Amino acid sequence: MSEKIISNFVDGSFQEGQGRNLFENRNPVDNSLISKVVEASAADVDAAVAAARRALSGPWGDMSVDERATLLHRVADGVMARFDEFLAAECADTGKPFSLARHIDIPRGASNFKVFADLVKNVATEAFQMGTPDGTGAINYAIRKPRGVIGVISPWNLPLLLMTWKVGPALACGNTVIVKPSEETPTTASLLAEVMRDAGIPDGVYNVVNGFGPDSAGAFLTSHRGVDAITFTGETRTGAAIMKAGADRVRPVSFELGGKNPAIVFADCDMDKAIEGTMRSAFANCGQVCLGTERVFVERSIFDQFVERLRDGAKGLKLGVPDDASANMGPLISLEHRDKVLSYYDKARDLGANVITGGGVPDMVPSLQGGAWIEPTIWTGLDDDSAIMREEIFGPCCHVSPFDDEAEVVRRANDTDYGLACSIWTENTSRAHRVAAQMDVGLVWVNSWFLRDLRTPFGGSKMSGIGREGGVHSLEFYTELTNICVKL
Ligand code: NDP
Repeated sequence: MSEKIISNFVDGSFQEGQGRNLFENRNPVDNSLISKVVEASAADVDAAVAAARRALSGPWGDMSVDERATLLHRVADGVMARFDEFLAAECADTGKPFSLARHIDIPRGASNFKVFADLVKNVATEAFQMGTPDGTGAINYAIRKPRGVIGVISPWNLPLLLMTWKVGPALACGNTVIVKPSEETPTTASLLAEVMRDAGIPDGVYNVVNGFGPDSAGAFLTSHRGVDAITFTGETRTGAAIMKAGADRVRPVSFELGGKNPAIVFADCDMDKAIEGTMRSAFANCGQVCLGTERVFVERSIFDQFVERLRDGAKGLKLGVPDDASANMGPLISLEHRDKVLSYYDKARDLGANVITGGGVPDMVPSLQGGAWIEPTIWTGLDDDSAIMREEIFGPCCHVSPFDDEAEVVRRANDTDYGLACSIWTENTSRAHRVAAQMDVGLVWVNSWFLRDLRTPFGGSKMSGIGREGGVHSLEFYTELTNICVKL
């Protein structure tokens, strides 16, 4: 069988792969080769930016909001029509279970187009009447315009979903985009290019350049003078590098960055719900979710019982390949990322943590031993200022600490450089509201986790991000408001 090549998509066509620098895309389940990917050069990024700029004033720029929205619905339908291909591609790139991607990654990836296409049709801008000294008055009203060419840099943990979370609103608002997917997960961005073309999205509106971050496509794109705004999801230190790259031309950035999210479990919680939610928030997607819980604070009177039940849950997780319907956990994204997570497993042990379960590499069948498998892991016994409690690990692991009172746990949960999300488990409604309001984060869940209404603001405070996306908040970033003042 011939080698599968993933090419850059520029100005409505896939570029030739021959004679180009290729990099390997490997399956984390067994480290087998999935495809080779064409690395975009600076000239390719230039071509993509030029195409995206031209497209702003082509047929795309002339379309009414309704026409754009219709096309974006067609894109969403196109993704759903090729659901199995998207599913297989996403699961091969990431190793995640089909059961997870079938319910989250692919349908949510598609619905991001519909949600924002519908939203732009229905959001009003503001208008003010004002008095003037001559008594005739004036009216002010604001109109929204696309910002222009948007650079979209996305990560590997939920590749299609997090990319379309940006591309959906960007296109709905009339912008054009250049997407740089993670080098680990290039396939669904490329499949989406086919869907875009088949749906009739004009050439140059959606472009994909593949490659790496520093000194590669990511850096070429974020430092390019023709890019009007940058939206990025990924690690905090990458965000800092991108901010510097965009600083010269004071370009707006929207950043969804890392987290070190707490869960707070009060003694008056519904224990079944708290265990079920914490199991998901710590271990879903092999712990590679920005919103995931890595610090669990449990009221002392239920601490032992909680730890025991969480341990039983973690031990009951079944690791397996994506199409194993009985498996609920896949591998980490890569062997390189596993080395990082394992370094924290070692560090926890060196610091004297009690390893409640896990802590190493599982014994997989010989055909899977080359994969990035790792054990779900729970620790207790470490101080709040240990590296395990302060640094984002991004693996299937959490540390559980006891607490004694509400004020103490609020202080400890907030004592972090990050500020993305928090889950609170209590059946006391007053307490839930009181504690939720005190958390220094962008998102608080009460008795749930990852429950998302796409109309609501999403983003992080402190080192977890800049700005909010979701609902009208996405429009704030993807449009420029012009106020028009008319003297009567
Ligand atoms: P990275 O920051 O490593 O990479 C994200 C993207 O940025 C990749 O496409 C990467 O390319 C690119 N990149 C890297 N360096 C540069 C650079 N100097 N200039 C331009 N682009 C660059 O993140 P991960 O892919 O490892 O994703 C995991 C991280 O994402 C975690 O920290 C997680 O918390 C965060 N995240 C945050 C979310 C949120 O909503 N707050 C949601 C999901 C994840 P390459 O692949 O080649 O390195």
